[in-house]
Amino acid sequence: MKIIVNGKEAGTKEKGCALCGGTWGDYYEEIDGEKLFFCCDICALEFVNMVNEVKKRTNWSKIDELIINGNYYTGRTCSAKSGNKEYKFYVKFNDEAGIETFKELG
Ligand SMILES: [Zn+2]
Repeated sequence: MKIIVNGKEAGTKEKGCALCGGTWGDYYEEIDGEKLFFCCDICALEFVNMVNEVKKRTNWSKIDELIINGNYYTGRTCSAKSGNKEYKFYVKFNDEAGIETFKELG
């Protein structure tokens, strides 16, 4: 999965956390058969919850590309791609890494 966080490629230790872009920490989670880097388990859990929500709503089996803009406080405006299909959404997480707000964007 190709991941762009606030304009920069992310998802590896060198490039930064797949959700927030942070380069500190050392946490890995396997998503769609790919080991992705996260700064912490909270970011990883938020990412998993987000990916699962997108898959549930789109019926996609995997996501090829994910563009994430924003942060914990503002919420995140995202674009997911699978093949030639695109799905835009807004997501904000709560204190327990769960989804507080999820909106499909037209
Ligand atoms: Zn993070």
